[in-house]
Amino acid sequence: MTSTEICPLIRKRQTKIVATLGPASANIEMIEKLVLAGVDVVRLNFSHGEHADHAARVKIIRGLETKLARPIAIIADLQGPKLRVGRFKDGSITLTAGQKLRLDLDKTEGDDTRVNLPHPEIINTLSPGAFILCDDGKVRMKIIDKGADFLIAEVVSGTKLSNNKGVNVPGVILPIPALTEKDRKDLVAALDMGVDWVAQSFVQRPEDVAEAKKLIGGRAALMAKIEKPSAIELFAGILDLVDGIMLARGDLGVEIPPEEVPALQKKIVRQVRQSGKPIIVATQMLESMIESPAPTRAEASDVATAVYDGTDAVMLSAETAAGKYPIESVSIMDRICQHVEADDLYRRIMDADHPDADTDASDAITIAACQVAQTINAACITNYTSSGSTTLRTARQRPAMPILCLSHSAQTTRRLMLSYGVHAVYTPDVTSFADAVKMATEQAAIQGLAKKGQRLVLTAGVPFGTPGSTNALRVAWVE
Ligand code: PGA
Ligand code: MN
Repeated sequence: MTSTEICPLIRKRQTKIVATLGPASANIEMIEKLVLAGVDVVRLNFSHGEHADHAARVKIIRGLETKLARPIAIIADLQGPKLRVGRFKDGSITLTAGQKLRLDLDKTEGDDTRVNLPHPEIINTLSPGAFILCDDGKVRMKIIDKGADFLIAEVVSGTKLSNNKGVNVPGVILPIPALTEKDRKDLVAALDMGVDWVAQSFVQRPEDVAEAKKLIGGRAALMAKIEKPSAIELFAGILDLVDGIMLARGDLGVEIPPEEVPALQKKIVRQVRQSGKPIIVATQMLESMIESPAPTRAEASDVATAVYDGTDAVMLSAETAAGKYPIESVSIMDRICQHVEADDLYRRIMDADHPDADTDASDAITIAACQVAQTINAACITNYTSSGSTTLRTARQRPAMPILCLSHSAQTTRRLMLSYGVHAVYTPDVTSFADAVKMATEQAAIQGLAKKGQRLVLTAGVPFGTPGSTNALRVAWVE
């Protein structure tokens, strides 16, 4: 390779890393460092920042894709109907157990006796006996009385409540739209920016994602954030409609008891993997690294557990958006993923739990390709795909070797960067099987995934040009 050629960026792991961008990762130098350190997918959090900030980051990412010759997926994360209390005269109030607090529609600043809760639907829906949680569950209150436009709550636990803190009402399906006015504006802006994924927050029912899907109209893939108990109850219907899932453990761990989150994580990851759609395990993965250059042992274990669970991706939030050690957070996450994947036990877990095959030729060929690749110790499995479906089928088998995805759709290559083991390359279309074999072996070498003399396994749909028609399997040598 001459010095003018770009040396492609390959990863030494199959699990993907998603990093949230924010003030701590706003400029091009920092974002490039994050990508070099291991970021495969970036998340733009529309709860914060102006459209211009997000647009500037999208431009930086697209520039880096060209510079680094690697697709990078961009997720626009919509805030959703996040509930909040209003403001206090003194900025905050001190709470003691047993204290009564009136929650009402009066927009004036609150005090020790009352505070604004600017959500009439919630006031209508909640009845005495229901619990209301504030500030990520740090404050717990029980409703003891209500009127037409107010609730009386009794403090059960918590010591302080300050301006605009978030409110959660676990276990209650709220009659509120999943997309707020702000979300609709943000969605239009995000689609104009050309994001690859849209993440929808506080999804409660399949209808919520159906609406978002309709508005998106195929311009981006849709991911549902699972952070409400009702989304867990109606999970199968939601999963059916979306292209991916984020297990948003921050709000989820407030809406349901935190002790229920680990088992649920295992169940959801398994179910989503079975569907072939990508899943992200998110929030508080390396939380202490917002302030500290090294993670706690418990955090290292948490990242490892998500990998052992078989997730497609792990995510960083404030660690990379607003923390003091964004690069270090990505680097340690990268190393944890690599270590787990090198563990025998991890491979045994992945191999023991293969999803059931669909009864079609594409699935049969894909599964056979993974088996052949393992038996002959192939350097990679290569797919030609236009829609991405063959590559998703391959990824759900969790093969031990990288999946080289060749596609003439830039959008497909970007979306697939979230999926397990996928190294996607944007290539010209091919028209014959012979050309496909030639391009696969050349690209495997150029991308640094296979050396001369190594073999790869190729799947394709012949004749070319019919999506979803994978019917051919070939073993090829890299020359
Ligand atoms: P958020 O979502 O960061 O937008 O709240 C993630 C979560 O709740 O875990
Ligand atoms: Mn959330």
